[in-house]
Amino acid sequence: MRLYSSLSRRKEELPPPPGPIRMYFCGPTVYQRIHIGNARPFVISMWLKRWLELQGYTATLVENITDINDKIYDAAPGASAKLAADASLWYVEDTGRLGLGRPDHEPKASETVSEIVALIEELVRCGLAYEAGGDVYFRVARYAEYGRLSGQRPDEVQEQEPNPLKEDPRDFALWKATKEGEDTSWDSPWGRGRPGWHIECSAMAERFLGPSFEIHGGGLDLIFPHHENELAQSRGAGREFARVWMHNGMLRLTGEKMSKSLGNIATLQEVLDEWGAETVLLFFLTAHWRKPIDFSEETMAAARAQVGSFSEVQRVAAARESAAGWGEFVEALNNDFDTPAALAILHEWRDAGQTDLLHRGLNVFGLAFERLPEDRRDVTINVPAAGAQATALTVSVRIVGDAPERVRKLAEERHVARLQKEYTMADAIKDEIRVLGWEVQDEIDGYGLVPLR
Ligand SMILES: [Zn+2]
Repeated sequence: MRLYSSLSRRKEELPPPPGPIRMYFCGPTVYQRIHIGNARPFVISMWLKRWLELQGYTATLVENITDINDKIYDAAPGASAKLAADASLWYVEDTGRLGLGRPDHEPKASETVSEIVALIEELVRCGLAYEAGGDVYFRVARYAEYGRLSGQRPDEVQEQEPNPLKEDPRDFALWKATKEGEDTSWDSPWGRGRPGWHIECSAMAERFLGPSFEIHGGGLDLIFPHHENELAQSRGAGREFARVWMHNGMLRLTGEKMSKSLGNIATLQEVLDEWGAETVLLFFLTAHWRKPIDFSEETMAAARAQVGSFSEVQRVAAARESAAGWGEFVEALNNDFDTPAALAILHEWRDAGQTDLLHRGLNVFGLAFERLPEDRRDVTINVPAAGAQATALTVSVRIVGDAPERVRKLAEERHVARLQKEYTMADAIKDEIRVLGWEVQDEIDGYGLVPLR
């Protein structure tokens, strides 16, 4: 399996199954209900884990919850801990409604402070960090590879977190001394304070995945400074850290309604209330994970229509061979997890009435529809002939769902009428069957009975 890495700027081959494949995805900073855009890395990571496991991999997914951060202190001065605890529950509740299960570990920064402090101490000891007025900063100039992930020359890196006490404007905070109005703080060798955002992820990833692991993911907006800084901290401290860096494209609010409500956030909760989990999941399938994805009434309506069309597969008369088989589907996903290519194959299977393949393929993405029992058998019917003995004829009958005896009988009568070229009568019986909630479909060597919606 190949995945594009932002670090090497090419597709990287994963080790063969069973791996292991250890993955760390940056989760949300919890201070409000998450935006639909924040659901994208969650969905991609859960799908990827499921797909890797189906390919025989041992996959471990860690997705953190950032519950110590400037944004939370700003959103709830003096009460950030309560807001972070509430918003963590909202996040689990909203993403839980997607029906994809949970990551293996969902660590919180507030539960990892001792590991964070130990990592900062290590960086101070080896000269990569220094204390300044109760804060601790990373010495960017001492890390030669700085800027490689985000593609910046070290001398061009923008200033981060302005503070006159810093040695270099590029240096970023690993530890911040407690400021007035902050309701949470922890002990450290540099006094009371709390960790900076970037070091939290370096420590949480190492705690659950060890010093080197296969995949690090998150939104493209995190590549600088967050991921550049994570990489500098961990590699600076001698860890290999992540090999493949997956950055998903951003969600754009488009369409008339969305543009009108600029600043009006579309939370995952609201979107799930309006469209349901299946439509949300199908929407995310439509764009390659590295590309932007456009969220609008129109794109969501189109996703809903696709969900509906898949659930109709059993109504497709007479299944036929499709050009793509399971192997092509596997190849699409193993080639940089190309979900639009996989989606095109799902449509091909739907059009060909390939219920088994479609069901198996949709199941990868948590989209399996309710499947009705399907029965195909040969039935012998007697076709009366004028002035002669009735002919016994064997026809192939396909029945989807639980057709009542009366409907089966009518379908048989209609078939006899057709064989006798009594088309008016055949059409009348077809209408009668329809009134009873069923559709009769002509096939080459018989007929099918499928329930109407
Ligand atoms: Zn992170």
